[in-house]
Amino acid sequence: MTGYIILGVIALLLAVTAVRAAFFVPSKKDAVEKEVEKEEVDVARYCKNLSDAIKIKTVSNYDRKAVDWKEFEKFHAFLEERYPLIHKTLSKTEIGDASLIYKWEGSDPSLDGIALLGHQDVVPIADGTLGDWTYDPFEGFNDGEYIWGRGAMDMKNHLIAVMESVEQLIKDGYTPKRSVYICLGHNEEVVAAPDNGAKQIAEYFKEHGVHLESIIDEGGAILPVNVNGVLNCNLAGVGVAEKGSVNYEISVNAKGGHSSQPPKHTALGHLADVIKDLENHQFKAIMPKFVYELFTEIGKRCSYPARLVTCNIWLLKPIILAVMTKIPPAASLIRTCTAVTMASGSPQFNVLPQRASITVNFRTMPGVTRADVEEHIRKSVRNKNIDIKFLTGKDASAVSPTSSRSFKAIKELCESADSKNLVAPFLVMGATDAYNYEPVCENIYRFAPFVVDTKLLLCTHGTNERLPLSSAQGALTFFKRYIKLMTQD
Ligand SMILES: [Zn+2]
Repeated sequence: MTGYIILGVIALLLAVTAVRAAFFVPSKKDAVEKEVEKEEVDVARYCKNLSDAIKIKTVSNYDRKAVDWKEFEKFHAFLEERYPLIHKTLSKTEIGDASLIYKWEGSDPSLDGIALLGHQDVVPIADGTLGDWTYDPFEGFNDGEYIWGRGAMDMKNHLIAVMESVEQLIKDGYTPKRSVYICLGHNEEVVAAPDNGAKQIAEYFKEHGVHLESIIDEGGAILPVNVNGVLNCNLAGVGVAEKGSVNYEISVNAKGGHSSQPPKHTALGHLADVIKDLENHQFKAIMPKFVYELFTEIGKRCSYPARLVTCNIWLLKPIILAVMTKIPPAASLIRTCTAVTMASGSPQFNVLPQRASITVNFRTMPGVTRADVEEHIRKSVRNKNIDIKFLTGKDASAVSPTSSRSFKAIKELCESADSKNLVAPFLVMGATDAYNYEPVCENIYRFAPFVVDTKLLLCTHGTNERLPLSSAQGALTFFKRYIKLMTQD
């Protein structure tokens, strides 16, 4: 009898999933491209200015004495020369070593302003790889299809697009009701910089009582996705949060001595068990609201058989999570990841280690604190004679809502520009400047409106970083429309 009941329940569930899948399609309104007013944008000037911006070697370094500050001075002079209307209309404040705040005063001072973030700095060219570049990384070469060079994707492309859009809006005679801030950090690429420019800008805002309505920074992009017969769209991932990254040292002590008379296990042997325990006991996978929304949005665009899964996430959650944990890039979206990255034992090959240590990098989900990580280590490792020491790191960001004006504006603008575009919330794996603005803003989105395929995204920070020119028009149009939509009331 119980067997029949179980079968009956399964049959019912299957029927429900099939019915949901059949009716789970985007509404007609969403699918139709809206007629929107064309925006005046100057792609040729953008390309020229981006090429020239790449020529200025604004390479950052953890050691500020090793930075060539003249390059940053050059970059500031370049912005002044190329964007005369911005420099006439907006106020400019220099912060810290080389960060900048531009403020376009809104006509209604009672409204919170919006901010567009960018970082002026780029990463250096890795030793021994200069010869691998097709064109010099600081030439900004434009071959008619791509603009090549360091910063072409991360993120002079974005910064120059913001400057272009504001310059053009002033030329068009537009006046914002809300203030528009352009905030340009100078050392985003330096991990844990003690003099972080973005942090100093955010502190300046806090001191001056500036609260921001919303922020757009780098993070996501618009990625063409084509899974044969299942999904064919441009996935615009908007980073609503970023993961944390905290590093711990875990050590085991043991008797030292000469390696000619070793015990059954040395300190390193005991540590091997610690590593295995950590790897075998991963953090529990969860499905945060934004991951659910990501799948739901994608699910709407999938073809029928695949839609059986994507539109029944509520029902299939345990199975989906179990499958995702087996695929590292998918697992990183749903749980705090553990990576044992460094190890050390004795300083000599014939000496038994008195103390052996590993370094573990945890990429934390929003909401997971350092106390949670420490508790997880203690629970997972059977050996209770370990020392746990926090080394460095930063916590995960807060999660920005998908119900804000800003998120809705991004969604509306992208999806109306091209019916293939699909906007969904996303979790950013790395750190951005935007994180520092949490004390002055709740609606922080990491999104670059450039259509770029995965192959090009992987060139970021690497050899042959380059921007496809085909993405320029869309990005310039997006920023102009976004600023207008967000600041006209
Ligand atoms: Zn960047």
